Amino acid sequence: MKPAAAGSAGAETATSIRDAVRTGRRSAVDVCGHYLDRIAEGNGRWNALTAVFRDEALTRAAEIDRRRNEWRDRPLLGVPITIKDVICTRGQPTTAASRILAGFRPPYEATVATRLREAGAIVVGKTNCDEFAMGSSTEHSAYGPSRNPWDRERTPGGSSGGAAASVAAALAPVAIGSDTGGSIRQPAAFCGIVGLKPTYGRVSRYGLLAFASSLDQIGPLTQTVRDAALVLGVLAGRDPRDATSVEAPVDDYTAALTGEATGLRVGVPRALLESGDAGIDDEVLAAFRQALDAMQAAGATLVDIDLPHAEYAVPVYYLVAPAEASSNLARYDGVRYGARCGVADDEANGGSPISTMYDRTRDAGFGPEVKRRIMLGTYALSAGYYDAYYRRAQRVRSLIRRDYDIAFDEAGGSGVDAVAMPTTPSPAFRLGEHLQEPLAMYLGDVFTVSANLTGLPAISVPAGFTGEGLPVGLQLVGRAFDEATLLRLGDACESTVAGSRRRPDRAGE
Ligand code: GLN
Repeated sequence: MKPAAAGSAGAETATSIRDAVRTGRRSAVDVCGHYLDRIAEGNGRWNALTAVFRDEALTRAAEIDRRRNEWRDRPLLGVPITIKDVICTRGQPTTAASRILAGFRPPYEATVATRLREAGAIVVGKTNCDEFAMGSSTEHSAYGPSRNPWDRERTPGGSSGGAAASVAAALAPVAIGSDTGGSIRQPAAFCGIVGLKPTYGRVSRYGLLAFASSLDQIGPLTQTVRDAALVLGVLAGRDPRDATSVEAPVDDYTAALTGEATGLRVGVPRALLESGDAGIDDEVLAAFRQALDAMQAAGATLVDIDLPHAEYAVPVYYLVAPAEASSNLARYDGVRYGARCGVADDEANGGSPISTMYDRTRDAGFGPEVKRRIMLGTYALSAGYYDAYYRRAQRVRSLIRRDYDIAFDEAGGSGVDAVAMPTTPSPAFRLGEHLQEPLAMYLGDVFTVSANLTGLPAISVPAGFTGEGLPVGLQLVGRAFDEATLLRLGDACESTVAGSRRRPDRAGE
């Protein structure tokens, strides 16, 4: 297949596409056709997209070309994007990679999709993910796993694995994902790209199929930090349709990118990283240390901090998230959405036909990981266990948030502007490696889940490679609603870390 426009030195960015379309140097139809061709030729290899909207995308691109002058100020003019299949796009398949939503076409559009289209972006397709976003590898997808563009035998991560693969393989310059416990940042790290989880409430969740409502956020996966800033500017803001979205002013995120980090204080939780408990791979730690040096070279000051409750983040998350999921997924009963397993009137075996229909639909419709979470969550919420599990988890969640409040506090704490750690303890693992061991899969979320439990914004940026050539991610967690500082720091790292813009070698495609 054809190499990407800019080859392995980095494909086209959303910013460069927007500029080219805006000035008429390239037509939106030409750009869109290029990416649709790449999808047609490459998707079989990566299994990144579950649906492609070729005709609609080209029609929209032609409209953009016709109205270029009128629409020239739209920030994503002519930029093709993919959307994770847990986000509703009106009249187009939205399945959460689950059999239970086979054939579902929502009658309404997620606010993020509306905002992207109004900003001039072109939705080219939906991306593969773990079923209902529950997982870290896309192996729990009814469509089969996506593959990592750096090594086809490895996972691109999850749950937004198809999204990350679509950007890393240059099937689209931008992907929109969701992140409940790391699902934007971990795949971004595994695929060598940028992934941003905004502060809880920064971006509307209207139209996102809910997994765990107190943790879910939508955000961008991009090639560069500048693109993440550009897309966040489009997504962010209050939405009357999501009562948890907040009114806080939306910064000019691209203006925040000064290319340096002078004056910023970066907290490093040394005890957590060096105790051995987090099980960090040596090469990941080495890349992380280099990223710290890069931030220092860009002008940041490193400060040792303590996150004494971080070790409880995974157990707390795996109580809170399944508890919320068990409640959210109760609505998939075969009555209103997607697939239904019917029951003949005389067949209900003592139960009512309707409850037998519910049981059969849910039994056939959900995969094993989703069932495991529903059972875990129902147990944690049940009378007699609620205090011991769910309530206790919520209390520890407050302690985890307090650790961060102290680290950010200028009066009594360390006064840092961001907390740095690796995004994941290991690089992308092999497909099948953790599939039979849910606990091993869950432990890989050790560094990402705290940002969801606390609601704080977090970004993963490329931090170099292992000896085998697999990408490693640096995660930065920031103050609530201070995405601008995270983006500034991330951008400074990107300019100093070697190989940040290296793309997988697609010679073998
Ligand atoms: N890997 C985590 C889980 O399995 C996070 C998933 C997510 O962020 N959607 O729950």
